[in-house]
Amino acid sequence: MIDINKVRADFPILKQTINGKPLVYLDNAATGQKPQVVIDSIVNYYSTLNANIHRGVHTLSQKATDAYELARFKIQKHFNAKQNYEIILTAGTTHSINIVATGFTTLLQKGDEIIVSAMEHHSNIVPWQMLCERTGAILKVIPMNLDGELIMTAYDNLLSNKTKLVFVNHVSNALGTINPIKEIIDKAHKIGAAVLIDGAQACPHIKPDVQALDVDFYVASAHKLCGPTGVGILYGKEEWLNKLPPYQGGGEMIKQVTFEKTTYADLPHKFEAGTPNIAGVIAFGTALDYLNNLGFNNIAAYEAELLDYATKKLLQIEGLKIYGTSKSKTAVISFNIGNIHPYDIGSIIDKLGIAVRTGHHCAQPIMDFYKIPGTVRASFSFYNTFEEVDLLYNALVKAKTMLS
Ligand SMILES: *Cc1c(COP(=O)(O)O)cnc(C)c1O
Repeated sequence: MIDINKVRADFPILKQTINGKPLVYLDNAATGQKPQVVIDSIVNYYSTLNANIHRGVHTLSQKATDAYELARFKIQKHFNAKQNYEIILTAGTTHSINIVATGFTTLLQKGDEIIVSAMEHHSNIVPWQMLCERTGAILKVIPMNLDGELIMTAYDNLLSNKTKLVFVNHVSNALGTINPIKEIIDKAHKIGAAVLIDGAQACPHIKPDVQALDVDFYVASAHKLCGPTGVGILYGKEEWLNKLPPYQGGGEMIKQVTFEKTTYADLPHKFEAGTPNIAGVIAFGTALDYLNNLGFNNIAAYEAELLDYATKKLLQIEGLKIYGTSKSKTAVISFNIGNIHPYDIGSIIDKLGIAVRTGHHCAQPIMDFYKIPGTVRASFSFYNTFEEVDLLYNALVKAKTMLS
């Protein structure tokens, strides 16, 4: 069970007022807020531990290295990776995807096919388009239906012996749909294709088990998981990470450097050139501890109630249409009211202290599919309350009256 008052007390930012009203933060799909323990972890690192890692013989450097590697271990346990060196620490989901997309340049040939889904975030479309330009590979798209679900029979038809890679998000950031990734992975493996799952939007709500999924690559960002910005992970199966060339050259990623030839370091360091966000990685470990203490089953149960309540409440507003109506979804409600522009709604309810996202949510193809300029997106977290849903409802009613 989530003890909502206790949980809210952990998040200092939630205590403030915005435009004279209590902050109602419903933009969790863009980034999550940070509990005090995560903030303390960053302060503690810079106050007591700061040193560069993996290179110094001095005590402080060793302590910093131990703290950093302990965080990697916590991440390994969280995602249930087989080996700690299968967890590559990156700057975030976008960075992780680019490591894989760039690496595949040497592994693809002209005419090979890459399958993505119709509900991808831009960061999961553009790197593949660039990869296709470099290699002559062809991009295919799994279409979706009006509920915002992938059409799996169409996926079956796209798979062939030309398919080398499949890229799908675990949960859509614009619609909240939870995609059937296990089925997608198994079908791709049958024809010998590798699968990368973008877990950026799933991980705040679902604890993925990369071994049970048998996924080849899984990526996520710390900042949507109560952790800091600029930190993320690339999980890759050992065999795949060994096949991929390094992404960036620099310090820390080499075994030996001469002007004739450089040999690369072993995993995970091969992909971790330069000084990383040490404090951020350690704080990410703290964030995972915090979330696992709350328990992902508790988080999912609470958020499901919140989603159910909010969906029923908002549908009471005449002319309100929800985009993304799959039965299998996380606590995200993307909607429009009549022909009112989403930006106008967002601006008015901001005056009332309510933070939502408006626009295309980095997923323009979805908006084109529904033939709309964008949506208002309210995305919930385990620290949101039923009272906040009521405040959102009241604010929307007010905005609708003012704008129509
Ligand atoms: C947020 C998000 C991303 C991008 O994450 P960054 O942290 O900005 O790199 C990619 N995919 C999905 C589904 C997201 O929600």
